[in-house]
Amino acid sequence: MTAERSPHHLDDDAAQRLLQLVGDLLCVCREGRVDWINAGGAHMLGAAADDLIGQPFVELLHPDHAAALSSGLEPLLAEPGGAPLMLRRRDGDVVAAVVRFHPASDGSVLVHARDLTGRYPAADSLITAVNRLEERARELTRLSRLSSLSARVFETASEGIIVLDTDLRITAVNPAYTEITGWPASEVLGRKPPCLLDPEQSEATQLTFEAARTTGRWRGERWSKRRDGERYAERLGVSTVLDEAGQLTHYVVVFSDITARKVDEERVRKQANYDTLTGLPNRALFLDRLNQAVSNAQRTDQMVGLMFIDLDGFKLVNDTLGHDMGDLLLQEAGRRLSNCVRSGDTVARLGGDEFTVVMPNLGAYQNAPTVATRILEALRKPFDLAGKEAFVSGSIGITVYPDDARDAQTMLKNADAAMYRAKEHGKANFQFFTADMNAAIEERLAIKNSLSKAFDRDELMLYFQPKLDLAARTVTGVEALLRWNAADLGMVSPAKFIPIMEESGLIGRVGEWALAAACRQVRRWRDAGLPAIRVAINLSVRQLRQPGFVDLVEKALDTAGIDADAIEFEITEGMVMKDADNAVAILRRLSDMGIRLAMDDFGTGYSSLSVLKRFPVDSIKIDRTFISEIGVDSDSHEIIRTIISMGHSLRRRIVAEGVESIEQVRLLERLGCDEIQGYVLAPPLPAADVERFLREVPAI
Ligand code: C2E
Ligand code: CA
Ligand code: CA
Repeated sequence: MTAERSPHHLDDDAAQRLLQLVGDLLCVCREGRVDWINAGGAHMLGAAADDLIGQPFVELLHPDHAAALSSGLEPLLAEPGGAPLMLRRRDGDVVAAVVRFHPASDGSVLVHARDLTGRYPAADSLITAVNRLEERARELTRLSRLSSLSARVFETASEGIIVLDTDLRITAVNPAYTEITGWPASEVLGRKPPCLLDPEQSEATQLTFEAARTTGRWRGERWSKRRDGERYAERLGVSTVLDEAGQLTHYVVVFSDITARKVDEERVRKQANYDTLTGLPNRALFLDRLNQAVSNAQRTDQMVGLMFIDLDGFKLVNDTLGHDMGDLLLQEAGRRLSNCVRSGDTVARLGGDEFTVVMPNLGAYQNAPTVATRILEALRKPFDLAGKEAFVSGSIGITVYPDDARDAQTMLKNADAAMYRAKEHGKANFQFFTADMNAAIEERLAIKNSLSKAFDRDELMLYFQPKLDLAARTVTGVEALLRWNAADLGMVSPAKFIPIMEESGLIGRVGEWALAAACRQVRRWRDAGLPAIRVAINLSVRQLRQPGFVDLVEKALDTAGIDADAIEFEITEGMVMKDADNAVAILRRLSDMGIRLAMDDFGTGYSSLSVLKRFPVDSIKIDRTFISEIGVDSDSHEIIRTIISMGHSLRRRIVAEGVESIEQVRLLERLGCDEIQGYVLAPPLPAADVERFLREVPAI
């Protein structure tokens, strides 16, 4: 034991730990037999150190080399620079190594072997070997003799070695340290290690030493930085050195550069998860992603779509143009599919000409056809296969979580079945697994196709549904409701075509038309001498965001020659929540003009008092689902009561919509509701019928 702590005079304890941590083989031979061997060496040879002790050293060599050395180790001593030798592992494997022999004064020989294959040592088994050996450290008293040799180990080990004092200042580094990190000893001696000074790594490094101090050692892998900033992966072991009194005197850090292995691992991981032909995720990774998407969706109440795509006509390409061309086509098809999906979606190749798309944020099943249509169009384009043109198409099956299935396996089965249905439907099309979804999507498509012509064919009109003031028993106004009498589809409900108009942008034009038509109608009723009633017009999200909307309203009022208070706009909470600041500003302008505003479908959305307070609405329309449940569901009763008292406290008028029976009217009267609207009074009526209605309001 020495007080001086230069790299050449490590104390025995430090030396002992060092020798065990080094991955190279270190062994002491006496009379040609193994007298001591370190854990790294035992690991390299695939045997326990105890079993190796006492063995003739030549038996550790490949038989070819062993034969040459049958007379002993002497010939090798002449090669102090190291001899390339094959070592023989217990499992029969061979390790190519550079072996150096250092004769010592007491007649023993120190052997140092560095593995050239890079296979040994492997971190985990080395650690187990070290652990086992350290338990026996006391038995290995012979080691003390090696302290004078530790300097040589320190100099020649392929691992970087750092010795630090208790303040974490470096007292020694070996040449391998400089080789790996790029930091020369002169720049780090007496200082804290660079990784401790780097803000990105300091905390983790601090914790590493902390852990070593409390448990005696720390081992692990991490990414670090070389002096030039290049990142590298290292396997790191930190041990503490204690004096006889058990006081911490030093830390010893041994590390090796494992970047190459990490890169290999990454490649192996890629091979295990990605299809080699297309580079797309393979079946294993696909199932992984699908499972993940489903469990995320479970937590967040989301929808997941899965598409199964099979290429039509691929077999023909393969048979006529050959497999190489088939491969080219699959690669190109993979690229096209990837271009069709949204970020966050996963395109995978299951095998053959089968692909899948996982859509974790589908939102609504109605969104899947947009992607499917894009894919069908992309696949329809000709494929240029090294100058030869080929054509395929796609048959797509779609399934949706949670509607059709609740787990990944069932989803895959469903999507596959739906894909077969697409094949039966003549290929080059998509099919949902669920019949209802198919029907809904088909209807949507038909509506979309004829909707574009509706406007030009004059198929749109407005119906008007009256509202009654319960206290005064007078009609306060009518709500304008769009009607579409489609030539090929008959009367189509606005609930069906308005979402499609919003999607296609047609709502702007139609909304503008409805506004003007409603204003014109007011003018006509006034001219006919009917009582002054207000016309309510439903607005869509798009309209509220449309630039110049307020000007448009002014123009419509002007053209019809009516006052602003002759109209009312109905908006929903959802519409105003999306872009609240902008919405409040526009609504305020409309309100300042004198136009009334009503909050439609109240109770189905956010329905919060604070929302209501912010928006300058004059009345609240309780959604008809609550009205229809009066007498069926006692909760509805309570909700209505709450909305009415809450609304009144904010001085808003309360309108109940969808009122169908006299009983409902009576109850609403008792609860203090201001107005009602619904079949009990009148259904939406053509303009001519409104005149008749207004002249003779039914008593209810
Ligand atoms: P909404 O604004 O909630 O309109 C009330 C709906 O309830 C109307 O359906 C109406 O016919 C129906 N209804 C009225 N009384 C009763 C009743 O007693 N019982 C039942 N069960 N239903 C009743 P409609 O006309 O099919 O309109 C559906 C939705 O379409 C409307 O819901 C509205 O959101 C939208 N909409 C209609 N016209 C327009 C428009 O011009 N522009 C915009 N942006 N949306 C419109
Ligand atoms: Ca409405
Ligand atoms: Ca409504």
